[in-house]
Amino acid sequence: MKVRVRLAPSPTGTLHIGTARTAVFNWLFARHQGGQFLLRLEDTDKERSRPEFTANILEGLEWLGLRWDEEPVIQSERIAAHRTAIQELLDRGLAYRCYATETELEAMRAAQKANGQAPRYDNRHRALSSEQEAEFQAEGKTAVVRFRIDDAATIGWKDLVRGPMHWNGADLGGDMVIARRAAADEIGDPLYNLVVVVDDAAMEISHVIRGEDHIANTAKQLLLYEALGLPAPKFAHTPLILNSEGRKLSKRDGVTSISDFKTMGYTAKALANYMTLLGWSVPEGMDEQFTLEEASAVFGFDRVNKAGAKFDWDKLNWLNAQVLHGYTPDQLLEALEPLWNEAGWDLPNRDWSLALCELLAPSLTLLKDGVEQARPFFEEPPMEEDGLQQLRVDGAQAAINSLLNALNKAPWDGIDHEQAKQLLSDAAASAGVKKGVLMKSLRAALLGRLQGPDLITTWGLLARIGEDRSRLRRCL
Ligand code: GLU
Repeated sequence: MKVRVRLAPSPTGTLHIGTARTAVFNWLFARHQGGQFLLRLEDTDKERSRPEFTANILEGLEWLGLRWDEEPVIQSERIAAHRTAIQELLDRGLAYRCYATETELEAMRAAQKANGQAPRYDNRHRALSSEQEAEFQAEGKTAVVRFRIDDAATIGWKDLVRGPMHWNGADLGGDMVIARRAAADEIGDPLYNLVVVVDDAAMEISHVIRGEDHIANTAKQLLLYEALGLPAPKFAHTPLILNSEGRKLSKRDGVTSISDFKTMGYTAKALANYMTLLGWSVPEGMDEQFTLEEASAVFGFDRVNKAGAKFDWDKLNWLNAQVLHGYTPDQLLEALEPLWNEAGWDLPNRDWSLALCELLAPSLTLLKDGVEQARPFFEEPPMEEDGLQQLRVDGAQAAINSLLNALNKAPWDGIDHEQAKQLLSDAAASAGVKKGVLMKSLRAALLGRLQGPDLITTWGLLARIGEDRSRLRRCL
């Protein structure tokens, strides 16, 4: 069997982490099977669909490395095929027009509620006589199209994640609306379950991999495949991503959109890695840090969990830090240069910038930390409380003075670290202070605080752009 899977996002919002994770599983499965990963933009909600959301979704997928095969299918362009399928179901008596008004339906549901029953459509217009129908039409009533769901039907499939699944027709809420309300001689806008079946069949999708919130839809869709005489794909329902309270992760939980993760400074590699781990466990002996390519070599549904996956920021941060710590200076510069440019900083030269990247890499968790931590190399930092205190320590002033004197005679070019250490020893000795006092004071002078990366390298970078002596001078 040719493996063809698809992601079917609705461009009614930005690329959500849940959708992106579904994309990851689809992509991994397709890759593992040597199959194809397709994209279908479900843009039939005209009011809420926007081109900028489509752009955001495509950009997000590409950024994550989830490249799709073939041109994306645009669902709204396939409406004729959807209508044809609905007409076929109408012609064969498998679907019918329901003229019940919204008010009637509301009253029906209220009565069900009052009787302690679950809300469902009571199939009241399933068997209208042609006279009744003519009467409704003469009254100018509009109608939806409903697909007949036999209460006695049993629906079963072997879910690739959840194993054997069973649904009763009676639990599907009554005959299902497949086309929105329209004039009685028209077919209104086709609805989700119908269009998905028609499109998945036309795209020859072999496996539908999507979140478990679609399980009831799968039961309905299987009935439609059968009614339309179309071969049904296999189904895999992946666990939902949960927030710390164990509820489905939603917009209310803050950052959920892939572009926001990017802005926050997460790398595509760490995020894709993390999303894979949200619901999939690595085979024994495999490291939890991997690329999508590496995961695809071993990916299968046997290791996809049934239980929901809690979103864990600490783990994502850890993975991101590992990725950044492993970057070569070149890779890091490529990632940071746009952010530094955005901050309005001019990079003196490539060598210097690479050296700065090498210095910062081990302490980054998020890419944007590389902006905050680079700031003192581009802008003179304010003097903070701990820096000030250090400069007031006994001998600090004498030590700085002595170092400045030495530098005024022979400035250090920032390259040879042995030379720098010698300079510090000599300056401390001639000021009669401990080398430690001078080193801490030098750090306070250069960075305005006592925390920071390797001192000699920091000093070297500032010396190379002629920024060391002025910062020492301001402390006297
Ligand atoms: N447009 C649907 C969604 O975003 C697609 C679901 C499906 O994969 O069938 O939830």
